[in-house]
Amino acid sequence: MKHIVSFSGGKDSTAMLLKMIEKNMQIDEIVYFEVMATKNLGAEYPEMYLFLDQIDKYLIKTINKKITRIKTKISFEEQFYKIKQKNKHKGEIYGFPYTISAWCNDRLKMRAINEYYKKQGEHIRYIGIAYDEPKRLAKLQENARAPLEEWKMTEKDCLEYIKKKGLYNPLYDKFKRLGCWFCVKQNLDSLRILRKDYPELWEMLLKWQKDSKIPFRPDYSVKELEEKFKKEEEKYVT
Ligand code: SF4
Repeated sequence: MKHIVSFSGGKDSTAMLLKMIEKNMQIDEIVYFEVMATKNLGAEYPEMYLFLDQIDKYLIKTINKKITRIKTKISFEEQFYKIKQKNKHKGEIYGFPYTISAWCNDRLKMRAINEYYKKQGEHIRYIGIAYDEPKRLAKLQENARAPLEEWKMTEKDCLEYIKKKGLYNPLYDKFKRLGCWFCVKQNLDSLRILRKDYPELWEMLLKWQKDSKIPFRPDYSVKELEEKFKKEEEKYVT
């Protein structure tokens, strides 16, 4: 039976992977699903790709394996500009997903995940869900395991553990939660960082908003966010 670690680069799955290695548990494959923003640009910040390379080096050294990186077949941008074929919105582009039941999770990420696991036959998958995430733990599939629960490792424990191991993702110095840089579910603080530290990505978001009938968030379009953040900066300077 194949034992597959589902790795996201976040603190929980990193802690799970490192601890599994420490405990000498069977690991046949480590899989990372990469959402694409455009055909050639990933959905993660550059620091994440550097971190994945760092983890690869550690894996080669310890278990002689590398992460299997699987890109989503279709990018966020491609789906964004696809024309809807059904109901009253027929003929319109998809535009930004709504925050509830966001199409990106289903059409991009879950499709790639399901397709991959279908090909694996009988297997056990290891998911990085912390001890203090009971709602997510309750939804685990039959063939999935969450060893962090068994080890009683909370989200905080995971962060401390990866720091101790010297394999800490520097994105946690900026963000509380990691995800796609264009995620419609991220909070205002993350968006302020996106605009300030990654202006070329922010520009892309502004451009997408021009084409999307659906606002980026229920409360703000990207243009409105730009105005809001600009005002905040001006207030801070004066
Ligand atoms: S992190 Fe956000 S943008 Fe990325 S797939 Fe999930 S919901 Fe969509």
